[in-house]
Amino acid sequence: MRQIPYASPFAEPAGSPIRELFPYLSRPGMISLAGGYPSASLFDLPGLQEASLRAMANPGQSLQYCATEGLPALREALQALSASRGIRCGSDELIVTTGSQQAFDLLVRVLLEPGDGVYVESPTYPATLQALRLAQARIEQVPADDEGLQVERLEALLAETPPARRPKLLYTVPNFSNPGGTLLPAARREALVRLAIRYGFLIVEDDPYGALDFGTGAPRTLFEIGCELAPDDNPVIYLSSLSKTVAPALRIGWMVAPRELLRRCAIAKQTADLCTSSLAQAVAAEYLAGGRGPAAIAGMRAEYGKRMRHMVGALRDQLAGQVEFVEPAGGMFVWVRTDPAIEPRRLFEAAVDAGVLFVPGQAFFAADGDPHTMRLTYAAPDCEQISEGVARLARAFDRAGG
Ligand code: PMP
Repeated sequence: MRQIPYASPFAEPAGSPIRELFPYLSRPGMISLAGGYPSASLFDLPGLQEASLRAMANPGQSLQYCATEGLPALREALQALSASRGIRCGSDELIVTTGSQQAFDLLVRVLLEPGDGVYVESPTYPATLQALRLAQARIEQVPADDEGLQVERLEALLAETPPARRPKLLYTVPNFSNPGGTLLPAARREALVRLAIRYGFLIVEDDPYGALDFGTGAPRTLFEIGCELAPDDNPVIYLSSLSKTVAPALRIGWMVAPRELLRRCAIAKQTADLCTSSLAQAVAAEYLAGGRGPAAIAGMRAEYGKRMRHMVGALRDQLAGQVEFVEPAGGMFVWVRTDPAIEPRRLFEAAVDAGVLFVPGQAFFAADGDPHTMRLTYAAPDCEQISEGVARLARAFDRAGG
């Protein structure tokens, strides 16, 4: 067979650990508490249909290429949405990306050389780890606890690292993190931004879940704090997405950052996809202009909150003493620590046999992950499926522990 001369990051690449679970999903009757899919029953179908018709009424725009930075109407709508979250930026300080996933990938390409250090909260979103590994970055894990990134630990790490080895970037999901479901408290947010200013690193604030709170709301964004503490030199780059609040198929994300950085990201984007689908952008712009978004999101918050309480109740009833977790205040995930006496591989296999899928926690660590962990989602399954899924999980615990 022909020897293909792969570039070194792709010589022996590891794929997404979550996407590797996909084959199990097709097993008949499988209940998935695994993927980060929003609930299909909560998509605002009438609103999206109407927005699609309006978008198609202007084919010269929606079926054409558009500016790499995004359709002006969508950029303005996203600027307004960002402003409603306290993020004020100029029109040239925001670009549209193909999912917020692409925004991070562009940042990696624009900012990192092989060997450059990046701090990530740990556990963290696996696709971030994947992007960093492919860029041959040096990943430095900063532990997160039940309140998210441990900023004090970061401060200690920074102090003990020689200046030349200090990472240039830190990645965090302060609002209802993936996988931890944690919400970073206001004091930690301010301390984190102050550290970035003091030590001169950039913060990537990834915020796909902030709008999905269950009533308490989220503290101010890191971006807003950065604007206040360093108005001319904000160290925070803000990423968000319509995937969890409108629909992931639109693939609409956005990034708010200094214009010189965005100019370089736009150049990197030109070689990735020229522009995000104009049709998707036009649909998103029409949808946001239609004004139905806030009511749809309110519906999601109520339903996800209900499903979360249902899952947490079922875990408490059926797995008491075998699992530990913190009830999330928003988002889509419960991060579960499992009884250390139970062998994680056996548990996963027993769960698949019982017809329920979860994401083994190892997927969320760059190294030295705690194997006695798992991520469960309550977003896509309904309450009935959650009950049955947790019952199956309890059977798997019995089988794996016995
Ligand atoms: N960041 C985090 C933390 C996520 O959980 C996800 C999606 N699961 C993304 C980014 C990517 O979202 P998008 O669909 O906008 O690319």
